[in-house]
Amino acid sequence: MNLIDTHSHIYLPEFEEDRVLMLERAEKEGVIKILMPAIDSKTHEKMLSGEMEHQPSCFSMMGVHPCSIRENYKDELKMAGEFFEKRNFKAVGETGLDFYWDKTFTLQQYAAFHQQIEWALQYEIPVVIHSRNSTDECIKVVSEHQKGKLTGVFHCFSGNETQAAQVIDLGFYLGIGGVVTFKNGGLDKVMEHISLEHVVLETDAPYLAPVPFRGKRNEPSYLKYIAAKLAEIKGVDLEEIGTITTANAEKLFNL
Ligand SMILES: [Zn+2]
Repeated sequence: MNLIDTHSHIYLPEFEEDRVLMLERAEKEGVIKILMPAIDSKTHEKMLSGEMEHQPSCFSMMGVHPCSIRENYKDELKMAGEFFEKRNFKAVGETGLDFYWDKTFTLQQYAAFHQQIEWALQYEIPVVIHSRNSTDECIKVVSEHQKGKLTGVFHCFSGNETQAAQVIDLGFYLGIGGVVTFKNGGLDKVMEHISLEHVVLETDAPYLAPVPFRGKRNEPSYLKYIAAKLAEIKGVDLEEIGTITTANAEKLFNL
């Protein structure tokens, strides 16, 4: 079975000790490609230095995470913008809005989100959206920019059925991760009604490990637990989950 982890921060210090072994485990479990979302200037170099060094193939995005939007956000955007001028990236991200941790920089988060969507349109690449406690607000921002050209994914989607339908209507994919395996998460019920053609898989490693590793460090090899849960919910073979979500990810990110 082939799987693609469309959202994995494998360049973070959490993997410093065992990165090579961790990627070998991923390959053994069928993970053929990994997309790496950027966070901010503290980790850009580390992310870019690891790209393509290993199997599975790893591909960088470029952007500024909403939780990294603070007083200096214009500098962060400038640096990310300079990377876009230098080379190609598979996506803009991760960007979006996060109203869970802190609302101090809400206006700045909006400004940075708009700017990054503009890059996605300019470079004709998808945008990867972080929408923690802000799904409706992110849907609204995307619809303001959607004139038929914008594509992307609502990463770590955990909204309701109505929001899922709105995301799909906008031509975006749902990034499904460990939350789908959580008891009482509610996402399993939502996914019963969602066609697999709109789904890509992700771990969001090192965060949000699926059951049975909930609360532990997450890693791409655990993607199979997410795929297995989705197979159970949809009543299809694991193989089919792999085939469909891999094709979706390859199409979306032009892999
Ligand atoms: Zn992330």
